[in-house]
Amino acid sequence: MTNETAEQEQDCYVIWESCLRIIRENTTPDAFMTWFEPIIPHSFDGEALVLQVPSHFFYEYLEANFIKIMRKAIDIAIGTQGRLEYFITENVQEVEQPKTPDNPILYNNPFKPYGQNNYTNGQNNQSKQVVSSFSREMYESQKAIYATALNRFYSFDNFIEGDCNRLARSTGFAVADKPGVTAFNPLMLYGGVGLGKTHLMQAIGNHINGHFPGKEVVYVSADRFTDQLIDALKHNRGDAFKQFFMQLDVLMIDDVQFLAGKEKTQEIFFSIFNQLHLSGKQIIMTSDRPPAELTGLEDRLLTRFKWGLTTDLKQPDLETRMAIIHRKLDERNQTLPDNIIDYLVHSIDSNVRELEGAINSLSGLSENGMPVTMELAKQIVEQIVQVTESKQAGIEEVQRVVSDYFNIQVDELKDKTRKKEIVIARQIAMYFAKEYTGFSLKSIGYHFGGRDHSTVIHAIQAVTDMIQEKREIRMYVEDIDKKFKK
Ligand code: ADP
Ligand code: MG
Repeated sequence: MTNETAEQEQDCYVIWESCLRIIRENTTPDAFMTWFEPIIPHSFDGEALVLQVPSHFFYEYLEANFIKIMRKAIDIAIGTQGRLEYFITENVQEVEQPKTPDNPILYNNPFKPYGQNNYTNGQNNQSKQVVSSFSREMYESQKAIYATALNRFYSFDNFIEGDCNRLARSTGFAVADKPGVTAFNPLMLYGGVGLGKTHLMQAIGNHINGHFPGKEVVYVSADRFTDQLIDALKHNRGDAFKQFFMQLDVLMIDDVQFLAGKEKTQEIFFSIFNQLHLSGKQIIMTSDRPPAELTGLEDRLLTRFKWGLTTDLKQPDLETRMAIIHRKLDERNQTLPDNIIDYLVHSIDSNVRELEGAINSLSGLSENGMPVTMELAKQIVEQIVQVTESKQAGIEEVQRVVSDYFNIQVDELKDKTRKKEIVIARQIAMYFAKEYTGFSLKSIGYHFGGRDHSTVIHAIQAVTDMIQEKREIRMYVEDIDKKFKK
């Protein structure tokens, strides 16, 4: 033995002794005896302390359960550049072969280089395998990449509750209050665009950060996750990427539908998911559709998604939209006339982001001295509201087409005239509004001169009956229908 190696050996005992002092203070006597006493320090090269452990499982258990305290010990004993490596002494041939890719302990060895199977490598059966752990510096540099993704502004407090989101909000809160401990793991939130998925997920993250400062929380969009992984693979840092995510307490992945068709990303996500789930760490995901409709995602992933709780965010009803508008205006210290607010909540019903966009534009223009008129509000709404599957035409368009067809004024559809032709035209317009705008009966009534929703129901029923009974009416309806389908 050269002097140098002897010194290093000496060093590794001294360093491990000081680590153990810190670890002992932070673990139960039982855990200390079971998991730390069997460890023999192997060597130390100035940065990496190599520990000899009896089995692969032993090492994985240490990493999954004691990584934080071990890292703290290394920070103090070596410094933040310090790293842990493991020397595994088991006879690898005695290790049970991984039977299925679903065996998370054996298959998803986070430290095994891709494409290399340590269990079947004949040269590898003589108790040697060194695997490395993160230094705090490496970990912190990874964490910094995702640090700014969580926006403090999103909270439970400013997430307005309604029938549309009550269950999602309350399960979200339960998870935020007891991350990893509830049955809601993973928690999967799904719903259409602009319905508050990201807001709610970030509220969970902020709540955990505020109440559990020791927990490592990362929010990342599925797109960003994919980009970072590709970058890591390009620079041969795939293992480090995986290791980083496997050490989190809370992983939030937004818009998982974007993982569709990305096989390598799904594979890595699958191992991370298993490791986190196995060690009781919280996983939260969002998607723009229910898991059953996530085509392009592997079945084994979809099965995992169903382990916890899946809950949806629906379109907010009128009262919730009203509450959201008032909340957003208050937050910005802005006001809008009541009739404009009324118009907005009745005209934008399916997407809170669009609603927010409309109040932003209007208050912006108003701050710049432009009077906020109904005309202006209408223009803004027409620019903002997107025609979607559930909405094939805007209400203005329906009214224009129908009044053109009957050669009357749009305003006549809205006023109180009881002239027979006008009444029929008005009822047909309401019928098409229901058919094509996706608006609620209440909102349709609003756009027809503030009529009650029961008037709208009556109109729709009357037209449905007349189509059966009167050839002439059937013809009108078919003609008008063609104009929308052009
Ligand atoms: P998604 O991720 O579902 O597409 P977001 O979470 O980005 O939607 O929400 C879009 C906007 O609407 C955000 O500004 C968000 O604050 C707001 N929002 C959605 N739902 C609510 C709600 N229930 N209360 C308050 N704001 C909401
Ligand atoms: Mg979102």
